[in-house]
Amino acid sequence: MTDTTSAAPARPAFPAGTILGYPRIGRRRELKKAVEAFWAGAIDADELEATAADLRAATRERLASLGLGPTDASIPESFSFYDQVLDAAVTVGALPSRFAGLAGADGSVDLAGYFTIARGEGENPPLEMTKWFDSNYHYLVPEIGQETPFRLASDRIVREFEEARAAGFVTRPVIVGPVTFLLLSKAADDAPEGFRPLSRLADLLPVYTELLSRLSAAGAPWVQLDEPALVSESIDEPRDAVVAAAREAYDVLGAAADRPALFVAAPYGSLDDALPALAATPVEAISLDLVRGSIPSGLDAATASALAAKTLVGGVVDGHNIWRGDLEAAFGKLTELLSLSPDVTVSTSTSLLHVPHDVDDEPELDERLTSWLAFADQKVAQVAVLARGIVDGHESIQEELTAATAALADRASAPGVRVPAVREREAALTEADFRRGAYADRLAAQDAALSLPFLPTTTIGSFPQTADIRRSRAQLAKGLITEAEYLGRMRDEIKRVVDLQEEIGIDVIVHGEPERNDMVQYFAENLEGFAVTRNGWVQSYGSRCTRPSILWGDVWRPAPITVEWSAYTQSLTEKPVKGMLTGPVTILAWSFVRDDQPLGETARQVALALRDEIADLEEAGIRVVQVDEPALRELLPLKKAAQGEYLDWSVGSFRLATSGVANGTQIHTHLCYSEFGVVIDAIRNLDADVTSIEAARSRMEVVHDIQRSGFEHGIGPGVYDIHSPRVPSVAEVTELLETALQAIPGRQLWVNPDCGLKTRGYDETVASLRNIIEATRGVRERA
Ligand code: GLN
Ligand code: ZN
Repeated sequence: MTDTTSAAPARPAFPAGTILGYPRIGRRRELKKAVEAFWAGAIDADELEATAADLRAATRERLASLGLGPTDASIPESFSFYDQVLDAAVTVGALPSRFAGLAGADGSVDLAGYFTIARGEGENPPLEMTKWFDSNYHYLVPEIGQETPFRLASDRIVREFEEARAAGFVTRPVIVGPVTFLLLSKAADDAPEGFRPLSRLADLLPVYTELLSRLSAAGAPWVQLDEPALVSESIDEPRDAVVAAAREAYDVLGAAADRPALFVAAPYGSLDDALPALAATPVEAISLDLVRGSIPSGLDAATASALAAKTLVGGVVDGHNIWRGDLEAAFGKLTELLSLSPDVTVSTSTSLLHVPHDVDDEPELDERLTSWLAFADQKVAQVAVLARGIVDGHESIQEELTAATAALADRASAPGVRVPAVREREAALTEADFRRGAYADRLAAQDAALSLPFLPTTTIGSFPQTADIRRSRAQLAKGLITEAEYLGRMRDEIKRVVDLQEEIGIDVIVHGEPERNDMVQYFAENLEGFAVTRNGWVQSYGSRCTRPSILWGDVWRPAPITVEWSAYTQSLTEKPVKGMLTGPVTILAWSFVRDDQPLGETARQVALALRDEIADLEEAGIRVVQVDEPALRELLPLKKAAQGEYLDWSVGSFRLATSGVANGTQIHTHLCYSEFGVVIDAIRNLDADVTSIEAARSRMEVVHDIQRSGFEHGIGPGVYDIHSPRVPSVAEVTELLETALQAIPGRQLWVNPDCGLKTRGYDETVASLRNIIEATRGVRERA
């Protein structure tokens, strides 16, 4: 859609169609396998490099065959061995002092050193890991101090561009931009009180300038700088400082004498007040996420005229979800964008990192469902279609647009997408369905029903998933053992876990979750409205991948799911057994959800299915039920204006799931990976009787937030960091409990680990639980 009557831009043309990034894990998780083989010592660094180069080569070929231009910078170089934020840290040489010894004289680290920073070694913990914007991808948090040296310590980005070139491609290097890099960093431990990594921007920019000049020398026409932090309002830095940093950074980089054209990508939402700032800089292209955000309006005259001279890259193909979507509407948005600049091109809204490779790899999925889906490769093809439409006009792509519209219509009318009984039930809900009895009455009824000691002890649900357990599941899936054989093995496992808890002296017993492959997929497999994939892997962090389920239709529960397991467990012990469910928000967060209705509506359907399950558990004699919501914080919208509505429906769906029970039934919830400050009111509003949270890693710091928030219900701040194989000593647990007791009244306090024990081994688990019980007994005696 370049208007050829205006003056020709003094820059290379931005490609008509592109994507912001592509999955790097490989269609068959080749990268995961190679990286893990390297860690295990089964292959050396050269072999790992060779596998990675093969994957990059295959990706370029694939993207070109799907319609991205091989030599016009359409193809992004978005490979990473582990994480793109770690890559940026290593590129600019910003290592925490504990890892300084890994770097050579030039500041570079080799592959082994790179993975050490990601995974820790001995006494040196790895970089912290946290969620990447509102996705389920986790990045590594760089640590920046006053003295952290910055220098161009790796030319990997340049070499990958050259590698592509040698194969006949001209691609587009991608790096996390300097503002996002610093905003995602945390202050190093040795930094002065109140130090802000963003204060180092001016020191960092010369390194980026040098990198740009290297890329320019290598012949890169464009470079992509990812700046998603500019769209987020959940960044711990005043907004005007963020906007000013964007302005400063791109004024400086734009002024570099010798550089490729600059493309600033801003996925995950609208740029808002960062857009005028970027517009005022010399950057040549800016992407706008038109899936989450909308076409900017009400721009001042200076911004409008500045934007008119830039390439606007319309992110109209959803990179965050797996639906084929409304292509006609997407093309419409591109047309609308033309009102801002004559130079409009098309892209995905985000990197395709969040979606699996290829729908064609799912021969077992229902064919009709498949026709509504677009994974990464299908989305690339959609981009290519829209790009053709931009160049050759709407009629040239009419056929594809019509086909996408027909698929949408088919989806809207297909059986299971809208189930009248589910809809009627939801429509009939009243306020009372979201409310339990008064807490004081519940407390009295539960005290009578459960007769628990002071400082009751429990675990979060899962016990170690041993190789035997996983093998049994695999054998069942392959038909090597019968269902009855499998059930027998799982029951034996449950009995072992119950006996162990009894012997250790835990008060509220769990069954250990041996039958669950994954806390979301397990429920998806047992509820209507979901489909599961075979090869639909998505990178979660490093070499870890998840296979999100696809929530495509109205959700309902055809039959009880967990009741037999829990009832069997209760038959083995006099102590209360805790039923174990995954909450509606977490089920949504870790699945691909339908995009044809508000999330809250979908959440209420899941909640009603769980409500039925809880009623059946209660009926079967289960007196404690835990509904896990570890993803409550993760789905919190990046924009403040959207947070209230989110908290309404997320908290509401939890309450809907759990409010059907009698006063004497104790509802627990569990949250982890969270910063509680922002959601503490929401956690209180869940109105659970007992909430267990992660706290051991932060040495109980979170109890002060809890105290300040006036939290009056039961609370179990974790005393055992299950992310590490370390066994906490009795003294250590005692100290954590005493710290907690200083902030929280004893009658509220529960004793439990930080999270489930699934990933731990038995030896350390048993030793840790024994120490927890011994410490609890000591504190009880002294109380
Ligand atoms: N009940 C789950 C378990 O113990 C909770 C897992 C989680 O919080 N992520 O594994
Ligand atoms: Zn957890």
